[in-house]
Amino acid sequence: MDSTVSPVLHFPSLPERIRGLDRIAYNLWWTWHRQARDLFRAMDLRAWRESQGNPIRMLATLPAEVLEGASRDSAFLDLYDSVFDHFDANVASRTGWFCSQWPAAAGSRLAYFSAEYAFHASLPLYAGGLGVLAGDYVKELSDLAVPAVAVGLIYSRGYVTQKLGDDGRQETEELTLDRAYDPLSSVAGPSGGPLVVEVPLFDPPVHVAVWRADAGRVPVYLLDTDLEANQPEDRAIAHHLYATSPEQRLRQEIVLGMGGMRVLKALGIHPAAVHINEGHPALALLDWICQGTEQGLSFDEAMARVHAGSIFTTHTPLPAGTDVFPFPLIEKYFGPLYARMQRDCRRLLEFGANPEDPAAGFNTTVFALRLAGRSNAVSRRHGEVARKMWAGLWPEKKVEEIPIVAITNGVHLDTWIDPVGLQPLLDRRLGPGWRDEQDRAGIWKPVEEIPDQDIWRIHLHLKAALFDEINERARRRWQRDHVRGESVVAFGALLDPQIFTIGFARRFAAYKRPDLVLTNLDRLKRLLLDSWHPVQLIFAGKAHPSDLEGQRVIERVFRLAQESEMGGRIAFVEDYDQELALRIVRGVDLWLNNPLPPLEASGTSGMKAAINGVPNLSILDGWWIEGYNGKNGWAFGAEAPEGDRTAADAEALYERIEKEIVPLFYRRSDDAIPHDYVRVMKASIESVAPAFSTRRMAKQYATEIYASALAPERAQGTS
Ligand SMILES: *Cc1c(COP(=O)(O)O)cnc(C)c1O
Repeated sequence: MDSTVSPVLHFPSLPERIRGLDRIAYNLWWTWHRQARDLFRAMDLRAWRESQGNPIRMLATLPAEVLEGASRDSAFLDLYDSVFDHFDANVASRTGWFCSQWPAAAGSRLAYFSAEYAFHASLPLYAGGLGVLAGDYVKELSDLAVPAVAVGLIYSRGYVTQKLGDDGRQETEELTLDRAYDPLSSVAGPSGGPLVVEVPLFDPPVHVAVWRADAGRVPVYLLDTDLEANQPEDRAIAHHLYATSPEQRLRQEIVLGMGGMRVLKALGIHPAAVHINEGHPALALLDWICQGTEQGLSFDEAMARVHAGSIFTTHTPLPAGTDVFPFPLIEKYFGPLYARMQRDCRRLLEFGANPEDPAAGFNTTVFALRLAGRSNAVSRRHGEVARKMWAGLWPEKKVEEIPIVAITNGVHLDTWIDPVGLQPLLDRRLGPGWRDEQDRAGIWKPVEEIPDQDIWRIHLHLKAALFDEINERARRRWQRDHVRGESVVAFGALLDPQIFTIGFARRFAAYKRPDLVLTNLDRLKRLLLDSWHPVQLIFAGKAHPSDLEGQRVIERVFRLAQESEMGGRIAFVEDYDQELALRIVRGVDLWLNNPLPPLEASGTSGMKAAINGVPNLSILDGWWIEGYNGKNGWAFGAEAPEGDRTAADAEALYERIEKEIVPLFYRRSDDAIPHDYVRVMKASIESVAPAFSTRRMAKQYATEIYASALAPERAQGTS
């Protein structure tokens, strides 16, 4: 919303007529608007490909003649004018859903805090699903014109790429952010030089600089500690996502939460609402209270203000998944604050003690649950789990009264629905207004009437594109790195696009059980190698560098994929990231999800598959308990026994695949289209798109939570 960015020109040599490209390239808005992407492609397709779809890199390398040529090419200029008008009307305007519902909120700000964000491959500041969710959500806040700013950290060496050795061992490499080609601008301070803010609690002080990315109307402020002015260990605070040492992790969370609030203050942004996405930024609430007392509020008044304006979203259904810092470490950093705020501060930090295990230390989730006025879980099932899990914090309440509501996650439709085939098909069949009304179930009804061959043709195209990409990657590894032949097979060189293909791609964490489908190898082999109805499996995913268990599972999958006995029907695709995710969720025939219930709080990859017409085969956990309707995919796992359920789950999985799904897929009529399977594909799109979009999700946060904080007098809105 702050469109008053200093009009720094990053590309001063752009011809005047197309100068707006500068702003478009530096706003991530282009990543979810196809026409804007086409604009860059149209300038020079080859340069676009070579830049790996990064417009900043492309503009920086294009020769002046090409730019001049574009500025005189009338077809290009028509496209440019159309994109630029749309961009300007959207990004610079304050009109939109939220503003029209709550005009009184126009001057208020929501500050959204998250430790990770995935907007686009050119700005990799994420590890997995949490970051992808945050990126999608911020795009949606922009689409809905919620007056928001986002706050995060910049991890200059944090992004890890993955390669597998011939033995299946995961080799990771740190990618250094190349700020010259990232969509980032340095934020200036009052004197005109870079803004530098001191983070409280550190001695010697830690300074942060601020980089700004823009996601449409929402500025994203990213804090950076890698400055000359800082000590070496302080410079490293924001090098890596989720530092493994507890002390560095705490320092990171102090910078993100408390530093983030100080940066907003320095920028003159005084949020009326603060949304804490998972426990990592919880200390923002502490700083908000401190700022209140610094402004002369009493401790109780400061607490009341924070309570009224804060929202905490928990994503973790396991106590072990929350951050807990030993109290001595807390003392070390918060000592000076104790001295200043005395008794009150000690009381505050005691809020971080979990009554179930008070000696364990300061738990950021417990702290946020106690301080935030509103808390929520990320699916209905997760809501039930979270209320039970945290019941000890409200001993006077019954479990069903525990104040943790459920707002189920969603995915950003414009980002995830195939823009080349499927979105234009939807434009034709649903009418171009479907984007504006995407959360209304009725708007999706015409999907049922789309001719099967239209859906199927697009699907085959997406499948072919995925297989081409996998082949090309395998070929490159063979040619460049001289990997062994069986590794080339394991990378997917023998995959056959005619064959029914199951996808499994997400982080390789033990609870997600990537190897569940490998439980009974004889049974699996029969499925894969069936001479009439064969099956293929495509895996992708990284394990955290310190997660040895996850790495062992990758190794196991990869080695099996190398075995000639498996016939080249299992593939492991390296280096899963947002870019590969876009291809893989659209390009397989079935999306598999089999975590150990109830450990998947929500899960979002299945939503991305479903909205592209790829049905889910998922255990009943997380979002699928709400998403599954009997017609839009397959479910299993309700019947599993207590205790070790691996064998029972695997058996149920094989049964569904063998008896229900594979026969449906291979049942073809004369036109070679599996009409019964396409019916499930269409039901996936129709049922999942309206209900599991960030549109529905953000509107729910806005109406149920933000409105009362951002527009207190007129919180009711009109609908
Ligand atoms: C969507 C997504 C995830 C989350 O997948 P889940 O199956 O929900 O865990 C992780 N990583 C990337 C790159 C994604 O796009």
